[in-house]
Amino acid sequence: MSTMTADGTVVQPVTGDGDRFRHYVPKPEIVRAAVEGVPARAICGKVWVPLTEGAQLPVCPDCQAIYDSLEAG
Ligand SMILES: [Zn+2]
Repeated sequence: MSTMTADGTVVQPVTGDGDRFRHYVPKPEIVRAAVEGVPARAICGKVWVPLTEGAQLPVCPDCQAIYDSLEAG
């Protein structure tokens, strides 16, 4: 599971079409998805193609818990 964010890795909440949550995704994953059109992996393990950010959706509980643990870490 090398995709787990290390300390200081920037993550952004993004969502995809039809998704009910925003997920935290390491910024390199977002960039790669945008450039190459490939799916990104959120820190909760969800793999999908992120489309937008800033949507008025709740943050994925799994992502939030992991993100909080990283922040505390
Ligand atoms: Zn998630």
